[in-house]
Amino acid sequence: MQVLGSYASGSWFVGQGKKQTLLNPATEEAVAEISSEGLDLGRAFHFARETGGKELRALTFAERAEVLLAISRALHKEREALIELAMKNGGNTRGDAKFDIDGASGTLAYYAGLGKELGAKRVLVEGESAQLSRGPRFVGQHALVPRRGVALLINAFNFPAWGIGEKAACALLAGMPILIKPATSTALVATRIVELIAEQNLAPKGAISLLNGPAGNLTDFVSGEDVISFTGGSKTAAMLRALPSVVSGSLRLNIEADSLNAAVLGADVELGSDTWNAFIRDVSRDITQKAGQKCTAIRRIFVPKDRLSDATDALVERLREIVVGNPTEDSVTMGPLATSTQLADVRAGIERLAAESSYAIGADPFQPLGAPAGKGFFVQPTLFFSNDAARENAVHAHEVFGPCGSVLGYEGNEAAVEGVRKGGGALVSSIYTDDRRTAGELALGMASAHGRLVITNAKIAEQTVGPGTVLPHSIHGGPGRAGGGEELGGLRGLSFYSHRVALQGDRPLLEALLG
Ligand code: NAP
Repeated sequence: MQVLGSYASGSWFVGQGKKQTLLNPATEEAVAEISSEGLDLGRAFHFARETGGKELRALTFAERAEVLLAISRALHKEREALIELAMKNGGNTRGDAKFDIDGASGTLAYYAGLGKELGAKRVLVEGESAQLSRGPRFVGQHALVPRRGVALLINAFNFPAWGIGEKAACALLAGMPILIKPATSTALVATRIVELIAEQNLAPKGAISLLNGPAGNLTDFVSGEDVISFTGGSKTAAMLRALPSVVSGSLRLNIEADSLNAAVLGADVELGSDTWNAFIRDVSRDITQKAGQKCTAIRRIFVPKDRLSDATDALVERLREIVVGNPTEDSVTMGPLATSTQLADVRAGIERLAAESSYAIGADPFQPLGAPAGKGFFVQPTLFFSNDAARENAVHAHEVFGPCGSVLGYEGNEAAVEGVRKGGGALVSSIYTDDRRTAGELALGMASAHGRLVITNAKIAEQTVGPGTVLPHSIHGGPGRAGGGEELGGLRGLSFYSHRVALQGDRPLLEALLG
């Protein structure tokens, strides 16, 4: 059995102690073991900070961009093999796996493009200089410089490739070395990605490390100008927020956590119109893609009360077409959840929703296709409906991280906004309307509770990629429950890994200094 180790201090290390087993979630067969017990984390952090940091800071943005491009190309070249691993260890269908892997290579390529445009510079100049006294020469200029630490990238289990790609692209382009801590349960893909980088020498020495296995005391080693970029559950996030290095050491921490994303159907949208069809398409895709294990997935579906049964019926019709089972079967369109813990959590969450709402689909027994009897972490697409969005509680408070959504009736734009905001802050929500006034009332009412809003009308119904796809051009993150973090968003994504300094002095001197 393959034992996954860690890549630290420039070499691979496989722990000898207790191992954890990684499973195929469709069959529960063991696919690999993992152990980094005994890994010298202090040395790993020191090597990354000192060697990786120095190497990266010596490169210009254009040279760092070449590193990103080389990694992107290597992932693309290895696409088929990575897809196989994601199917085996993540329960992904081929489509799910492509979404993750192409998301990673696409994001890296996008940031390579930005780096190339920045060219031969090493410092990002921010805005115009400001004259600070009566004479024209004494000026102030803001600039972003790489933080002299290491970026600890902690990822969730659901996007082992893209999760690395989006964080790594921004950190490396900003000039910070990275230590990747993938979720243990789906570490096969992450490990192969780092193997590719190491085998082909795609990154400067010390710029990229991998810490596999349970976290243990990992966060004890983070200090000074290091940063933690975390994606995962709110409980782990709360633990990170309470770290002494964060509380009293001002350690920089970015959190991408749970999210009760919403889709709102405007009262103007006619049954069967292009906007209606886009709404049904986006919602049904979000419930089932990656078996609903997507941080951006639509969980709450707000529809005008007089459209409740039409919308529910249309969604049920789509969800009935989904074939749940082992992704190795060609006809399967939705795989299992990633772990047994996920299965228990999702089942418990569905029970909570069932206690306050009615099933539209998902209550009947089902048999996953191509899975050994009684094996696999399967849940079928599940939809609830309720005539009163305002009355329910769990649906606005508890994220069921699986193929599950709730259709909620509302009356009037104000009630829709109020209902959406009950989610306490989300990554992304979507609005479907052809009426400008409705679009304005909903979008402006919802904006401050979101990182991103997607407004779909008939004109862009065929062009939009839907709310579930995170594009590097726009920010990813959200306030409140979603963690309060912010990633990506073009060059904005580099800020977290950089330090902003205000330089004051003689204009020609500053201009020469900043290139
Ligand atoms: P999780 O249990 O919080 O784990 C996330 C990561 O944190 C894993 O790599 C985990 O490692 C690590 N971790 C756990 N304890 C740690 C510690 N003491 N110190 C350092 N790292 C530690 O979350 P998950 O179950 O993987 O992911 C599901 C959640 O992530 C969902 O709630 C979902 O909403 C959220 N999510 C959010 C986004 C977003 O962008 N906002 C994206 C994807 C997922 P181990 O695996 O080794 O325990």
